[in-house]
Amino acid sequence: MRDEEQANSMRLTLISMPWAIFNRPSIQLGTLKGFLGQQPEQIKVDCLHPYLAVAARLGMDYYRQISENPWAGEALYCGLLFPGQAEQAAQVFARYLPARITGMGYEQLLSQLEEEMEKWLDQLQLDNCSLIGFSVCFSQLPASLYAARKIKARWPDIPIVMGGSTCTRELGSSLLAEFSAIDYVITGEGEQPLQELLLHLNGQTELTCGTILRKNQTIAALTDHEISEIADLSSLPLPVYDDYFQEMQILGLDFIPVLPIEFSRGCWWNKCTFCNLNLQWQGYRAKKAEQVATEVKEMHKKYQCLDYTFTDNALPVKEADLFFATMADSGKDLRFFGEIRTLKKAATYHLYRKGGLNSVQVGIEALSDSLLARMNKGTTVMDNLVAMKFAASASMTLDGNLILEFPGSSQEEVTETLRILELALPFRPLSAAGFFLGHGSPVCVQPKQYGITAIVQHPNNRKLYPKRILDNLDMLIKSWRGDRTLQKKQWLPVRNRIVQWHQFHARRPDPSKHALSYRDGGDFIIIRQERINDPPLHHRLRGLSRRIYLACEEPVEKKKLLTQFSQVTKEQLSGFLADLEQKKILYANTKSCLALAVRQP
Ligand code: SF4
Repeated sequence: MRDEEQANSMRLTLISMPWAIFNRPSIQLGTLKGFLGQQPEQIKVDCLHPYLAVAARLGMDYYRQISENPWAGEALYCGLLFPGQAEQAAQVFARYLPARITGMGYEQLLSQLEEEMEKWLDQLQLDNCSLIGFSVCFSQLPASLYAARKIKARWPDIPIVMGGSTCTRELGSSLLAEFSAIDYVITGEGEQPLQELLLHLNGQTELTCGTILRKNQTIAALTDHEISEIADLSSLPLPVYDDYFQEMQILGLDFIPVLPIEFSRGCWWNKCTFCNLNLQWQGYRAKKAEQVATEVKEMHKKYQCLDYTFTDNALPVKEADLFFATMADSGKDLRFFGEIRTLKKAATYHLYRKGGLNSVQVGIEALSDSLLARMNKGTTVMDNLVAMKFAASASMTLDGNLILEFPGSSQEEVTETLRILELALPFRPLSAAGFFLGHGSPVCVQPKQYGITAIVQHPNNRKLYPKRILDNLDMLIKSWRGDRTLQKKQWLPVRNRIVQWHQFHARRPDPSKHALSYRDGGDFIIIRQERINDPPLHHRLRGLSRRIYLACEEPVEKKKLLTQFSQVTKEQLSGFLADLEQKKILYANTKSCLALAVRQP
């Protein structure tokens, strides 16, 4: 290498810690490596995924269970990071991973993780490394702080930067103040700020980007020229996952990974009052379907994987239509997971399913219209039932959350939720999610509007972090004072009903059948309805009744039904629909109705 080239060459080590999902490479690391690799400067990027070695040591199933319980995962590394907190952290761990998890206890796990960390540090090669970067998302904060401290002790001269969705401006600034191992925090999108930081450390440029925080810096609101985001996502190259595959090989892991892909950044809706998922993005951007289809094709060829997971908060609707239509014609057995907002048409679910989208997370959140309005979801109970029904009819696995204990919920809203749960029984059960107060969410920004009288540290964080440090950390998840106790009591019947809903589905003798289905006999239909603790019921609808029920296959306005079936009076129709609703085979609101039974193929 020529002297000039040597002077300009930089080496960056990027790290993703537990509890990242072990069977996926980090898209954050892969994207940064791809981006920096195409810049004119010579930047060598090594991506490290130490969570793979931890998964190998603990066993895949055990690792998976911990990674699915963020508080349990944080409790483990907090026990190592702050030994004085270990006893209380063990309580948090036990609460989230109770006795059903057999094998190692908390203490034993700490020893395993500590040993694994030392082993990993012993084989780390950081010669000529210009910068070490941690991507910190979800439950990776304690593990990243622990690793940063250990690395700094061995390599005190290498600067350390942290970034990722956890690193908001407020938390980033407090991390710099409280943890001496961290030299910089990038708040927001990583590509361009990371490049600028590397060039700065190499003496080639000043730091101008406002999203790079340094020690002792007071944070102020960002001006437009201080924000550095990729304006056009189509300029991004393919994420590079080579290092992950190499690490898998070295560790002898032989599972087939699921590859993360990215359609968009931010959320095209971005209005839900409980949501803080878009703090790191300043603007919404999406790739074109054609580009994403090409990326999938290239990854398919390069890494020979068939399963892909979209990292988007919500897939872009029009481009997703085009993308799945392209995939439907690919002739390959590809499978995708994606998060979507509710879609209106059965045909769209079927198209997406044909294009490989076999599993979705849908933002259901509530089954009460007034509650959905206060959450500013932009959806209704009808939209949510439509999503659940159409996903079922397209054989698509739909997962979603029902947010319980939303501040200011009324008894009427709880009662409505319980009523709708009766109608939703045949569909795949939702998960109960107790409301949590996310830093930067609209509820957190305007707490009084929601009856919140004070925002305080989350009780789990009070157990996991020493008080002196926590007092100065602006954590992402907070707790609040207001009507918490009332809400817990009020929502308990819903919580119990959700447990019953899960049990009903777990015990169904033949899950390949729909729990509420119909077969069409031409001039009559037979609806089969499975029930909790009772044998299935059968309803036969003949002639006109059959035709009206089938006309409600998609949501239909009642006044349209009256026009279509002019032989029926308004009163007769209301009576008929009320009877079907009472039998729990149809949902009607003031304007429209939806038949709930799914045609049994
Ligand atoms: S909850 Fe989902 S849809 Fe709502 S703003 Fe957040 S990311 Fe967007």
